[in-house]
Amino acid sequence: MSGVRLVVFGRQGAGKGTQCAVLSEHYGAPHISTGDMLRAAVAEGSEVGRRAQSYMDAGKLLPDEVMLDVVRDRLAHDDVVEHGFLLDGFPRTVGQAEALLDMTTVDAAVDIDVPVEVVRERMLGRGRDDDTPEVIDQRLAAYEAETVPAIERFAAHGLLERVDGLGTPDEVTARLVAAIDGRVAGA
Ligand code: ADP
Repeated sequence: MSGVRLVVFGRQGAGKGTQCAVLSEHYGAPHISTGDMLRAAVAEGSEVGRRAQSYMDAGKLLPDEVMLDVVRDRLAHDDVVEHGFLLDGFPRTVGQAEALLDMTTVDAAVDIDVPVEVVRERMLGRGRDDDTPEVIDQRLAAYEAETVPAIERFAAHGLLERVDGLGTPDEVTARLVAAIDGRVAGA
């Protein structure tokens, strides 16, 4: 088991996907986005994809058991065993957080902090197909209710680094790398 094992948190619209792509390259650890995995499953029409579709359309979270199966399978792949992981979009609930911490070791969790009003405006502006105002608000409410307590689990384990997510993407990357290197120096 080697490589860097990271969890990246951030509200929808906080720039998490962009930062994860850069961090994945920087640390050489596979970027595992559960949102991307589920969208691929929907496109393929797989069993998980068929279950996922209605939840995703409503901006609702899938049941923890489904997500845990998906993530457990993915973490067993060779690339993860060799190079670690950068989890994006998982865990999203306290149940998922506890299960992840039971399943594997995590070096650090980073939270890209951008205020709710800022991300709401950004998402309304970018207008992805599923970004109607109702769905955006539903997702942000789910984040506050479900994911903020999950982030607190990592804080309780002494694993959390909160990083200011305002500024240029490069500025945010520099802050993230500094925070992560403080935890995994020599990894
Ligand atoms: P968002 O656009 O909300 O940032 P993602 O692209 O990460 O979301 O995921 C899209 C959708 O996939 C979510 O709204 C949710 O329905 C589902 N999903 C992704 N990750 C999880 C998870 N860890 N637990 C439950 N549902 C998830």
